[in-house]
This record gives sequence, C-alpha cells and structure tokens, in this order.
Amino acid sequence: MGPNPLLDSGALPRFSAIRPEHVKPALHEVLDASRAERDTLLDAAEADGVPDFAAAILPLENLADRLHQVWSPVSHLHAVTNSPELRAVYNDCLPELARYQTEIGQNQRLFRLYAQVAAGTPAEPAARSLLEHALRDFRLSGVHLPDDEKRRFGEAMEELTQLQAKFEQNVLDAMAAWTHIETDRAKLDGIPDTVLEQADATARAVGVEGWLLRLDQPTYLAVLTHAENRDLRYRFYRAWSTRASDRATTPENGLVDEAAAPPGDFDNSQVIEAILALRHETAALVGYENFSAYSLESKMAGSVAEAQEFLEDLGRKSHHTALAELEELERFAGQGLAAWDIAFYSERLRHERFTVSDEQLRPYFPLTRVLSGLFAVVEKIYGVTVQPIANVDAWHSDVRFYRLFDEDGAELGGFYTDLFARPNKRAGAWMDDCISRKLIDKSLQLPVAHLVCNFAAPTQSTPCLLTHNDVLTLFHEFGHTLHHLLTRVDYPSVAGISGVPWDAVELPSQFMENFAWEPAVVTMISGHYETGAPLPENILDRLRASRVFQAGLQMARQLEYSLFDLRLHAEYDPREGAGLSALLDDVRKTVAVIRQPDFNRYPHAFSHIFGGGYAAGYYSYKWAEVLAADAWSAFETHGIFDRDIANRFRRTILEIGGTRQIADAFAEFRGRAPSIEPLLAQSGIAPDGACDGPAA
Ligand SMILES: [Zn+2]
Repeated sequence: MGPNPLLDSGALPRFSAIRPEHVKPALHEVLDASRAERDTLLDAAEADGVPDFAAAILPLENLADRLHQVWSPVSHLHAVTNSPELRAVYNDCLPELARYQTEIGQNQRLFRLYAQVAAGTPAEPAARSLLEHALRDFRLSGVHLPDDEKRRFGEAMEELTQLQAKFEQNVLDAMAAWTHIETDRAKLDGIPDTVLEQADATARAVGVEGWLLRLDQPTYLAVLTHAENRDLRYRFYRAWSTRASDRATTPENGLVDEAAAPPGDFDNSQVIEAILALRHETAALVGYENFSAYSLESKMAGSVAEAQEFLEDLGRKSHHTALAELEELERFAGQGLAAWDIAFYSERLRHERFTVSDEQLRPYFPLTRVLSGLFAVVEKIYGVTVQPIANVDAWHSDVRFYRLFDEDGAELGGFYTDLFARPNKRAGAWMDDCISRKLIDKSLQLPVAHLVCNFAAPTQSTPCLLTHNDVLTLFHEFGHTLHHLLTRVDYPSVAGISGVPWDAVELPSQFMENFAWEPAVVTMISGHYETGAPLPENILDRLRASRVFQAGLQMARQLEYSLFDLRLHAEYDPREGAGLSALLDDVRKTVAVIRQPDFNRYPHAFSHIFGGGYAAGYYSYKWAEVLAADAWSAFETHGIFDRDIANRFRRTILEIGGTRQIADAFAEFRGRAPSIEPLLAQSGIAPDGACDGPAA
C-alpha cells in the first residue's frame, strides 16, 4: 500500500485512490496528532497567561480544518459510491469521531482558553463570532456538567451518530431491495420513454424479461405522475411510503413479482424510538426541556413557540387555497382521489390548464445548456466566471470539476458536479463542503464544494434532459455552492456555510431558484437538444403561469413535515415513546388536506430529521423561503440583473458566513425586518386568507 491518499495535503482530494482500508489509519493518525498538538497548544497558552487570538485560537482552527480534510472525502464517498466495505469502515469510524468531538466540546481547559480570549475582546467581527460560537457549543456539549453526566452525554452522542447512519442505510437498503418487473408493456403506458429505456436496459443487464423498474426517486416520480395503470401507481406509492418501515411491501402482500427482502431487516421503527430517546436525554442533560429547544438554541428563530407559531400562521393563511386546489382537482378527475392519484391527475390538470408537461419541456432543457446558462446568469449578476477544468481526479466518470473566478480574475474556489442517479448513491440533491476557505498565517486555502443531484442519466439515444423542476433543483444547489465559494471569511468554522444557522442556510439556495422562472433567464438556459430552438414563448408563458399551480397543496405538505418534526422533538415524553401516528394525525388535522392511507409511514424514511442535520429544524426550509422571497422582491424592484442590488446581496448575505446575526445582515440588505408577504404573493396565496381560487 502506497502513501495514504487521505493524508496527502494536496490541493484536492485524490478520490480515485481512496480505498476503504485507508480510512481508519488516516483517521487515527489525524486524531492522535490533533490530540497531541492540542495539548501542546494548551500548555503554551496557559504558560503564557495572556493568550491572544492569533497565537492561541487560530492553530486550533487549523487542527479542525485538517480533520475536516481527512473526513470530508470519506463521508462524501460514502454518500455517492456506497459499498459494503466503505460502509463498514465508515460506521466503525463514526463513534470515534463523535468521541473526539465530545472530548473537544467538554474540554475544560479549552473552554477556559476560549473564554479568556473572548474576555480580551478581539475587535474583528469574524474573530468575535468564532469565539461566541465556540463558547455556545461548549455549553451545548455539556462542558459544565459533572464527570459522570459528561461521560453519559458523550456515550449518547456516539450512539446517536451510529443510529442516524443506520437510519439512512436502512432507507437506502430498503430502496435497493425493492424492484418491480413488468412483462406486459401495456401496463407501463404513460411512463416516459427515457424511464422505460432505462428499465429495459436494467432488465437486460440482470438477465430478466421485460422492464425492471427500481425504487429510485426519478422512477418513483415518473410512475406516480405518468403511469395510467392505477394498480402500478398504487404499488409504487405503497413501496415508497412504507420504505424502511414495519409495513414495507413484500411478496406476501400479494405483490408477487417484487424481489424479496425481508422487510424486518430494514425497519426503522426501533431506530426512531432510540434516536428520539437519546436526543431527549442529551438535551435534558445540558438543561433544555426538550430537543427542539436545544436545537433552536443555535438557530435564527428565537424559540420553539416562535417557530411553531410561524408555521401555524402560514398554515392558516394558505389552508383555504390548499382546500380549494384539492376540490378542484377532484372535480377535474370526477372522483375522490387517493394519495397515489394526486400526482397523476395534477399533471393532467396542469397540462389541461397550461398545456405544458414535464416531458414537453425536457427537450428544451438539455443539462449542458442549462449549466452554461446558469453560469452566464451568475456572471451577469456577480461578475464571476465559471471554467471547466479537465482531467481532475474523481470518484466516477460522470463527475466534472469547475473553478470560479472573480471579475478581477482572482480565483474564488472550485466545485465538483455529480449529477446523475445511480445505484448506491444517496437520493436527493445537496451541496457539501469539500474544502473550507481559510486564510491563516498568510496562507490562503480556497473553498471547494460538492454539487450533487440525482437526475435521470443520459441514455444511448438522448443526452441528459431536465424537467423544469430539475432546473430549479440545480439552481437551488448552485445557490448553496455560491454561498460556500463567495465567502470572504478567513476562519473555517465561520466561513461559507459553516456557522450559519440552519434556518438561514436555505436562504441563498431558495433565492437562486427565482432566476429559473424569469423569461430573460429561461432564454439563457434553454435550447432544444436537437434543433437548438429556444423554448417557444407561449410555452414559457404557460410554464410561468403554472408556477403557483397547487402552491397551497405544496405549502400544506411542507408545513405538515415541519410541524411534525418540530412538535415530535418538543413533545416527546420518554415514558410514552414516539407516538408517531397520534402526533401525525394531530398535525394533519391542523394543516393537511390530502388523505393519506393508514399504511403510510413516511417518518420511517424521513432522512432529513432522523438521518441528518434537520432534526427539529425542517421548518428551516419555510423560514428561509420567507427570507428568500423577501430578498428576491428587492431584486424585482431594482431589476433582476441589477449589479448594485446583486453586489449588496453578495456583500451582506453571501460573503459573511457565520460572522453576523442573520437578522441584522438581512435588515442591512433589505432596510427592514423580513416580511412573510412576498412569499404568499409569490405563491399566489392572498395573505388575508381569502382565496383567489386556483384558476386565478
Ligand atoms: Zn438546500
């Protein structure tokens, strides 16, 4: 075995050289070295008596950054090229990492050092925020607890990281285990050719007759939206909405052609109970009534009550619209609709009203054209340019790498794109921090991001063609990418997306989506993949009119997820357990309008809150959407390509990382506190609760 690629301190990770067997030695080496160097630094600072920020704190930033550089490629590969071997070492490492983080968070000597330096009040705002964040995190890690409680806190954190990983893996495994083989072509009527081509190729690859449909997100959405066969839609709905649950579909349910995997193997029921119990326990240990209160300590929203009231207010103001939308859909369908009919009839109603369908739009949005248009948009507004870089080492042949340059030619950073769905890749779309911006001791490290999506891959006959929804996803993730790359902050723990409260982190991304609806932008990002013809104006008009289509129903769905998450973590009582279904019923009474069947178990695959960082924070999407819509309304007033307003947005929001209170930064940008009205207006929802009617 040659030198360990995870320990190279080259400019970019050598992804293709990283093997599972490199992970543990690299992690051990960096953790051991960090412990030793940390103690040496502490000895020196304590001997010094009057530790100063640059001498005492910045070396600690370097240590944290070095660990990030070893672990970031590992967690990224785990997400995009999951293999049993990598998964096993990844799982083994999680408790070690959690132990290390707890050790830092509960280290009294470190805590005293940060407190001492903070008391010396460094003038610079970035330094001040870094210290404030660190002191808050010490408190949230239980630095003040007696030894036995500290130990228990640490153990619970380790268990939590393992359980959260287990949750996600169950979802992934449950999806991979379920397939549907169809030999009767007529039963697939309505499903787009691109999906069927893929299913045909998959069937041939594994040597079965017919079409093999997987339970990945693009396939699931294609079936629910387009399959005319109601039974097929039901099967997919049922499989999707019971993933990793006690109700997961098996051949015993009469669905004889689905590959058998014992559903009990991937059932997340007990995992959810254990996660909730541990979250509640750790929050209580450090003095919070419940996990939601603990979670909100580091967020922009002031309290659980404030966040809940915010959601319920949006619910009250949009409920009329959602109800009217459902009624009108059922009128259109001529029948009461089950959950697996909604997408299908919605697509037809949308098509009838706007005569525009996803499949009609796809040919106009070839990925390459959308990407180059997107890059042209950011050049126009921020003056930054994107350049593709060839032959950059990567983990898959679909991966591309780009560098971002400022107007004066200075390089700002880089990003990888990995845009196509494939097996063993986590579903959804996301941006992740590969390398953080850092300027310490006059040495500048530029930020690098991962931009990951799960678009339907190109087939033999067609390039990758996006729906407009895919285009929005791409703009969204690129908004995160810009937030990560445009930062001017020098210290990694508060640079880019680091140190930004969760409920503000979606501001730059949701803001960016607005561009993809503008005629001037659509011209830049569209062109028929065969003829190059622009998207015809009448189609564009109808697409734009369709923007508020079912906005009330979408709002209701997001509010349901948000309230469920917030209240689940706020009302959890260890004596009673999770009580998922009772809470879900209650939340649905408040905000939901679509009837879900009893077997629906979406919490069992709700990775945002049980697998990752959105626990008691899913409301962040709506919270930030209000900020994004309000910020966008300033662009609408000044002109969407106006350089002054764009520069102000870049300076006050995109560059600041976690170095300011977002409420203050937003007020500086907008000249006032955020308002909920632009979001309601953008969604076609009259703010007084009166409904314009979905036909308006
Ligand atoms: Zn996002």
